Amino acid sequence: MSILDWFATKNSANKSVTSKLDIPGNLWIKCIACGETLYSKDFEQNLKVCPKCEHHFRLTCHERLNITVDADSFIEIDYDLSPADSLDFTDIKAYKDRIVEANKKTGLNDAIITGEAKINGSDVAIGIMDFGYMGGSMGAVVGEKITRCIELATKKQIPAIIMSSSGGARMQEGMNSLMQMAKTSAALYRHKQQKLLFISVMLDPTTGGTTASFAMLGDLNITEPKALIGFAGARVIEQTIKQKLPKDFQRSEYLQEHGMIDHIVPRNKMKSFLANIIEMTNYHKQKIEETETVEQE
Ligand SMILES: [Zn+2]
Repeated sequence: MSILDWFATKNSANKSVTSKLDIPGNLWIKCIACGETLYSKDFEQNLKVCPKCEHHFRLTCHERLNITVDADSFIEIDYDLSPADSLDFTDIKAYKDRIVEANKKTGLNDAIITGEAKINGSDVAIGIMDFGYMGGSMGAVVGEKITRCIELATKKQIPAIIMSSSGGARMQEGMNSLMQMAKTSAALYRHKQQKLLFISVMLDPTTGGTTASFAMLGDLNITEPKALIGFAGARVIEQTIKQKLPKDFQRSEYLQEHGMIDHIVPRNKMKSFLANIIEMTNYHKQKIEETETVEQE
């Protein structure tokens, strides 16, 4: 090795060490909304909300679960249900391969986890979607899991909460995925007939067949700040109606102003908000039952 080669090798080796030391691991991240550089630990402690612009970053379903329900209270149901490629569907990739990839990426069997849990001591049936698994799309398994989760709530006479973040129906399952819209809505109707509470939490983003079915059927439809919620995408609407859409169209604040959303809850207040609503509902339900018992006597 010539001295010049040695120098070059030494330099490039030093360079890689230096750059590693300058930017160690994932210590810093950049806010995708305002560009601010954030210290990872602070960012995590702030529940992945930018302290400067309050941009709410997307969470995985397990991150969401951890900040929503009481510690160790979650009992998962239907963990082992995983999608089947009944249409033998291939677009630019085979659906079979997409399923394997999504599982590897997220560790999930499909785009939602469901089960029973406690929120500040109150029982709930809860489903949390994960946008990381094929854009949180709803196929037969997601629809079935949501339906069973709501049916569990009806059977146990407890509130149901579904936290959505989903691009809509899963096109790779064709009609089977569209059927889930009717099935989940029917399960909610039976839940409602029992005068039970359903809270729909629509998170960034919730669109398509998810918005057009169970997600808009909450006794309370709530969301986080600046979440994208809609049916068709803004570009499709603009092209169809041939008009420019208003700024903030399909964002939480705009939707609340126009009566589509009941309340916008910042991430750090979400758990206490849900707990308060559930407690109030349980209290009133109990009072009504007591009155009915007295009247019967
Ligand atoms: Zn920011």
